[in-house]
Amino acid sequence: MLRAYALSCGALEFDKSLFFPASAPGERIVAPVSSYLIVHPQGRLVFDTGVHCDALADPAGRLGKRIAALFTLRSRAGEDVVSQLAALGLKPNDIRYVVNSHFHFDHCGCNASFPRAQFLVQRAELAAARAEPKRYRSKDWDVPLDYREIDGEHDVFGDGTVVLLPTPGHTPGHQSLWIRPGGGMQFLMTADACYTQEHLEKSILPSNASDAALMTQSMNRLRALRDRQGAVLLYGHDAAQWHALPHGQKSLV
Ligand SMILES: [Zn+2]
Ligand SMILES: [Zn+2]
Repeated sequence: MLRAYALSCGALEFDKSLFFPASAPGERIVAPVSSYLIVHPQGRLVFDTGVHCDALADPAGRLGKRIAALFTLRSRAGEDVVSQLAALGLKPNDIRYVVNSHFHFDHCGCNASFPRAQFLVQRAELAAARAEPKRYRSKDWDVPLDYREIDGEHDVFGDGTVVLLPTPGHTPGHQSLWIRPGGGMQFLMTADACYTQEHLEKSILPSNASDAALMTQSMNRLRALRDRQGAVLLYGHDAAQWHALPHGQKSLV
């Protein structure tokens, strides 16, 4: 039986217009940073690794001046992926796979904490991170890790329960995590393919999409999986939804 746990990796405060381009600059919002642990009989998988802990004490040093000027990390002690796993009795070496939705700083900041895991990332995302170092923070992802390049949809354990679903547009190689534990139940961790429910309902695209048309296609695909197949979408940065989810020891499934 599959289990899935929502792990809190703190929160980010930033100008609302970054998420909602029609909003006048000046209003600040706080959005959660999330990670998920999936426990499958053949191994454990972590989806996204959050922001590196050093960003709390030294934001510019860890994240770079541009990102540090835009985002303020609002995290309490224990709100990072390694501490969250420890609270479940797990160490990083207990994790077989790490999946990065993409290589933005709030999704791969703690990659280096998993030196024994195999990292499943889309080939297009690795290529983009190598080609556009200014849009990515190499400190986060460009470390000696076992990166396995995936091309398109990928069934991680070969039984259809844990599937990587390409959802490009936010970045060139963005992917979401689709879990199907059985009994018709489906969850889709969208990450930044869709920040919040409001983005999906109103088809709002943030201004930083690498390809707006592709991002719209990906959002349409997510919407169709929700509407036609009953998948529960877990949005990348939706504060209202996140706070309503069970956290810690309680499985979502
Ligand atoms: Zn992103
Ligand atoms: Zn994000």
